[in-house]
Amino acid sequence: MSIKENLEQIFTTIPNHVKLVAVSKFKPNEAILEAYETGQRSFGENKVQELKQKFEDLPKDIEWHFIGHLQTNKVKYIAPFVSLIHSVDSYKLLQTIDKEGYKNNRIINCLLQFHIATEETKFGLSLDEAQEFLANEEFQKMKHISIVGVMGMATFTDDEKQIVREFKSLKFIFEELNSKFFASKPDFKEISMGMSDDYKLAIEQGSTIVRIGSNIFGSRQYTQ
Ligand SMILES: *Cc1c(COP(=O)(O)O)cnc(C)c1O
Repeated sequence: MSIKENLEQIFTTIPNHVKLVAVSKFKPNEAILEAYETGQRSFGENKVQELKQKFEDLPKDIEWHFIGHLQTNKVKYIAPFVSLIHSVDSYKLLQTIDKEGYKNNRIINCLLQFHIATEETKFGLSLDEAQEFLANEEFQKMKHISIVGVMGMATFTDDEKQIVREFKSLKFIFEELNSKFFASKPDFKEISMGMSDDYKLAIEQGSTIVRIGSNIFGSRQYTQ
């Protein structure tokens, strides 16, 4: 099936209140343009250089999402244009994003990434770590970031019960933070969870943003 056909099929499975981020990492501009012509406007990348290059080459009404592990020294390359950083996994990174937001005279939207999988390789905060810095006065003073929700990745497994359990744990984290720290902030409303293999389960568990790559673009070849 073509990218267009894949996307049109996926559109029918995603309710209106859920946003689709098409994960275009490792895919060429032509593939992104085919999705663009089908009406898709939000794309996700996990490498800073690749994202920056694609931003420069492609239509300016694309909304770019950064979904990979982000090193503090690279924030400056995406700070001028990134629409949402899904993967804030340390307080230090949040401070750097705030600083770059200030330099660019904009507020950068972020999600806090939580470690919900059993695999150790996946990045992310624990609930305790996040609560500690959210309660900190220094955090309250940051004017150039807006935390609009949470993100997580389930374990790579066929065990649906486990995946559901992990998505429920992210939903729980969202509710905890929402009531303790964001009760007066209506912008805190996003739960980014669900990929090609598990996005339907994620939507059932309350996801508001799904990040889908291979179901749209075909499988990736990691040759880089
Ligand atoms: C690659 C990636 C995706 C998309 O994965 P698919 O299984 O191809 O849909 C989603 N989220 C993150 C963080 C990724 O790195």
